[in-house]
Amino acid sequence: MRPAIVVHGGAGIYGDDAVPEALEGVRQAAAEGFAKLSSKGSALDAVLAAVRCLEDDPRFNAGTGSVLGADGTVENDASVMWGADLSAGAIGALSGFRNPVLVAEEVRRDGTHVLLVGDGARRFAIRRGIPSIDPRELITERQRARWEAEAERRRHERPPEAAAQHGTVGAVAADSHGHVAAATSTGGLLFKLPGRVGDTPIIGGGTYADDLAGAASCTGQGEAILKVTLARHAVALLRAGHGATEAAEIAVAELTRRTSGEAGLILVAPDGDIGWAFNTLRMSRARCDAAHPEPLALIDR
Ligand code: ASP
Repeated sequence: MRPAIVVHGGAGIYGDDAVPEALEGVRQAAAEGFAKLSSKGSALDAVLAAVRCLEDDPRFNAGTGSVLGADGTVENDASVMWGADLSAGAIGALSGFRNPVLVAEEVRRDGTHVLLVGDGARRFAIRRGIPSIDPRELITERQRARWEAEAERRRHERPPEAAAQHGTVGAVAADSHGHVAAATSTGGLLFKLPGRVGDTPIIGGGTYADDLAGAASCTGQGEAILKVTLARHAVALLRAGHGATEAAEIAVAELTRRTSGEAGLILVAPDGDIGWAFNTLRMSRARCDAAHPEPLALIDR
């Protein structure tokens, strides 16, 4: 078994000026995740460390730096899954936590439920000792400006930008025991309706992990990803015997054909085979394994 990690920082349009910082962010997250794998941590430890790192990075749409919904507030979605026992935890439409993925992990550890949303999720997190923050602390100047530009555009009924930026974050890893895990976190889509939940916290939609096959984390238009249950679909293709690259490509091609939505995903098999695919212009991503202990970060095809 070859320990390996892949992280993504979202599929979509990145202006050339945003490329260096996106690459830097995913590189750092892959290194933090891989450091866990190298020090005998599990695949679960690795994906949590990587996603937490990207949530704390204000350049990505997760945790600090999340996009704002139609009412100008941040609502986060996040999930985590451990392939050894299929245990999973997720939160949707949650406000006021610095690291939503850690709340999802607490739901997983508790084990009673898989998905908690809104105020119920908030009260669960507080009961479990996770400190809440003023939700406005997650709002960056850059996201506030994007929200204002979008509000202005809508007021004047101007056509939308060519394509949305994403910036959702995720990680998949395989450890030396052949266990796999996946985690994903997002602020969702700019100007989404309050209460909207995307693919990110839906097990099988945006995240999936099963030691019998592999682990997947998705990014892109949640409404399209949900319709084809993209993460579970990609993992099922691994189980059917496809290599990771092939499985990722088939799954994204099917989403494109059936929904014409935008999406990307990262994939890892229990033996450390890594794959990714996306139908957007770019997707920031980085990989790390024993053969490449220095993270390789990419954004173009
Ligand atoms: N998939 C996320 C969502 O629909 C958005 C993204 O990937 O940027 O909430």
